[in-house]
Amino acid sequence: MAAHPEVFVVGDLAAFPQQTGTPLPGIAPVAIQQGQAAAENIRRSVAGKPRKPFRYFDRGSLATIGRGAAVGQIRRRSVHGFGAWLIWLFVHLMYLVGFRNRVAVLLEWAWSYLTWQRGARLITGELGPELAPDDAVLGAPKKPAGGGGWLEGDPEQSGEANR
Ligand SMILES: Cc1cc2nc3c(=O)[nH]c(=O)nc-3n(C[C@H](O)[C@H](O)[C@H](O)COP(=O)(O)OP(=O)(O)OC[C@H]3O[C@@H](n4cnc5c(N)ncnc54)[C@H](O)[C@@H]3O)c2cc1C
Repeated sequence: MAAHPEVFVVGDLAAFPQQTGTPLPGIAPVAIQQGQAAAENIRRSVAGKPRKPFRYFDRGSLATIGRGAAVGQIRRRSVHGFGAWLIWLFVHLMYLVGFRNRVAVLLEWAWSYLTWQRGARLITGELGPELAPDDAVLGAPKKPAGGGGWLEGDPEQSGEANR
């Protein structure tokens, strides 16, 4: 921030036009590198040294697109499918801080995968009868017809009633 050199903006909040003039994408590698650069510049400022300009090093990008599927680009090579998904898992685990965190996240992912839980990152699957197409965008359950609101304990709301 030009008027506030003591403030650093990194990751998804930052619009950084980078070397090529195109803004960097809102992805994890950008956030990680910008965080590291900000930390290094804070250290330099404290030591009375000049700050270094940020340069993004593009190692590639990966994104999951479903259960067991991902797409990505690693050093100009495109990857996709199950292999890309395994790489995504490995890379994300390795970037977590600490062994305990890695094990905890791995177990959580394994549990979600085996129990077919819908992950926070994935919005997939068939629309259930309780979702009208218009409401599906927000994921809001369909309101009962007839203008009435839902009452606590209303059997219309319960899972039993929707089966
Ligand atoms: C659904 C989804 C899927 C994605 N998939 C991929 C992918 O496959 N590959 C990839 O590279 N990138 C992916 N991204 C993008 C990636 O997650 C982001 O680019 C990255 O997390 C940005 O990091 P950040 O540190 O800027 O923000 P965040 O990771 O969002 O971190 C911000 C943190 O600040 C906390 N916070 C917010 N407000 C406050 C407050 N007032 N006080 C204290 N703490 C606060 C938040 O809780 C959060 O922990 C995905 C993003 C989404 C939403």
